[in-house]
Amino acid sequence: MKAEERLPVWVVLVAAGAGERLGGDRPKAFMRFAGRTLLGASLAALEDCAVVDGIVIVVPEGWEERTTLLADDLCASKTAAAVSGGASRADSVAAGLDEVPAEAAFVLVHDAARPLVSEDLVDRVVAAVAAGADGAVPALSLTDTIKRVAPDGTVLATLDRTELRAVQTPQGFAARSLREAIAGDRRDVTDCASLVERAGGRVIAVEGDPRNLKVTTAGDLARAEALYLERHGTD
Ligand code: C5P
Repeated sequence: MKAEERLPVWVVLVAAGAGERLGGDRPKAFMRFAGRTLLGASLAALEDCAVVDGIVIVVPEGWEERTTLLADDLCASKTAAAVSGGASRADSVAAGLDEVPAEAAFVLVHDAARPLVSEDLVDRVVAAVAAGADGAVPALSLTDTIKRVAPDGTVLATLDRTELRAVQTPQGFAARSLREAIAGDRRDVTDCASLVERAGGRVIAVEGDPRNLKVTTAGDLARAEALYLERHGTD
């Protein structure tokens, strides 16, 4: 695709979670990671993606100014705004989406908790929505056997894993599909694609990246940092 034929792609980078499972004295996105912060690493990776035109960062209330400084320090010139998030992830995405200009044809939603996002993965997601899907999600096959278990530990069922996938971010959307879906009922979801699915949109699974780890616990942070340093060195 020639650059002049590309439609604008914007990213909503959500970083407004408290990250209680990680511990620490600050929101998860601002935890130290490979000499910067988790948010800084995710932002730098997205900034470096040729297909990305603009980025809106969503952070906990009171962290907006720090985020603008963080983006300046990284020379992250695609960052257009840093706004405060909401009570749920979907509320935070909605707050970010409000700052995405109307000209954006496609919107990627990415968790700051995944600093190992690669340009190849971003390109795969964008290609799927540019080809006409309402949404595209990076997905991985499951290798473990999956069971449904009652609160008392009793195994209720063993699921057929052949059709099951673990889904990551960035998730990509036709901007209009995401705006419509997020304006509706956004309770009880853990990703944006489920809102688009609920609204009847067509969501495509593209190949995920096993290295695109999500940082939830201190152990994840150490594993992700080791992978990140292996890929980037200590730049
Ligand atoms: O809590 P969890 O790790 O699933 O959050 C995934 C991503 O969503 C994180 O990057 C987190 O900062 C973000 N989030 C948010 N607003 C919330 C909750 C989570 O931006 N209210």
